[in-house]
Amino acid sequence: MKTILVPGGAGFIGSHTLRTLKASGYNVIALDNLSNGHRDSIENTVELLEGDIRDRNFLNTVFKTHSIDAVIHFAAFIEAGESVKAPLAFYENNVAGSLTLLNAMKDAGVDKIVFSSTAAVYGQPENNQKLLEGAKKHPINPYGDSKWMVECMLRDGAAAYGLKSIALRYFNAAGSAPDGGIGERHDPETHLIPLVLDAAMGVRPSIKIFGNDYDTPDGTCIRDYIHVCDLADAHVRALDHLFALDTGELDTGNSASDTETNTGFYDAFNLGNGKGFSVRQVIDTVKEVTGTDFTVENAPRRAGDPAFLVADATKARNALNWRPQYSDLADMVRHAYAFRRRHSSFKAA
Ligand code: UDP
Repeated sequence: MKTILVPGGAGFIGSHTLRTLKASGYNVIALDNLSNGHRDSIENTVELLEGDIRDRNFLNTVFKTHSIDAVIHFAAFIEAGESVKAPLAFYENNVAGSLTLLNAMKDAGVDKIVFSSTAAVYGQPENNQKLLEGAKKHPINPYGDSKWMVECMLRDGAAAYGLKSIALRYFNAAGSAPDGGIGERHDPETHLIPLVLDAAMGVRPSIKIFGNDYDTPDGTCIRDYIHVCDLADAHVRALDHLFALDTGELDTGNSASDTETNTGFYDAFNLGNGKGFSVRQVIDTVKEVTGTDFTVENAPRRAGDPAFLVADATKARNALNWRPQYSDLADMVRHAYAFRRRHSSFKAA
């Protein structure tokens, strides 16, 4: 049985991926400093190593004492707005941390990694069109820059050291496991769906729409929401893809912008449904699913928000045979609502 180390396994997407890995027959070890993750997001069938990816001695011990076959790396700060205020903290955690992890992997002879990247590597799309992986990388905040810098390390590591990697560029992660057992919990919460659910549950007095004068049909921003379980599934498929490279089973079909050497491999895939929903459509869906009404306020635009961010994820569908199971926005909202209702800290005072 192959053993996968999962830094950031106590976070939102990490914890769902742990479940999918276990269900797919992998042995799984989570690693997390619990700065943003939650111990109780890791179910008791998974070992948790508490520590930081910036701590090289800790990582050396982890790789010496466990026989790791590959890494799925989620550990990072994720708030784009926060990254503008504290860029060095983001570069230290996301870039220096990933560099330390990659060096520790290299010295331990672990040559496979699936990396949690983001649509933020593209920055502001030129004209409201779906994004392909080859689109220009012009991040507009340090968060996007930090993720793109790590992708560059992966690309260059393929050619120089035979590193095998896949970067998965998520659009807007949403939903939760359908049983509501694990889900999205950020503190402070800034993401749209959990905030609208808080308004529906009376935990917050209202929801603010950040900008209603964008160049979109209803004037509010359009995003591509993708269910967290579909993201988790894509990670396991990416991992299987990297293991299949060892057996020579794959015609990788890399494009010219990707890197493939005799032994190394780097590729990147967008993960989204390819369908855009506006902020207003999300609010209407929450009203419908929860059967509640609540106050909606118009507020100024939020800095750094592109009007339209939608994936063309054909490449992941073709190369990874990935088929999202929960592409209906109402399902994502329903599952997120189940988790929020179950979790006591979200209940109104
Ligand atoms: N948004 C909003 N009100 C909120 C939170 C978010 O109008 O209270 C908007 C935000 O401006 C963006 C969209 O909802 O257009 C999705 O934002 P989110 O933070 O969930 O994800 P992002 O697209 O920034 O990764």
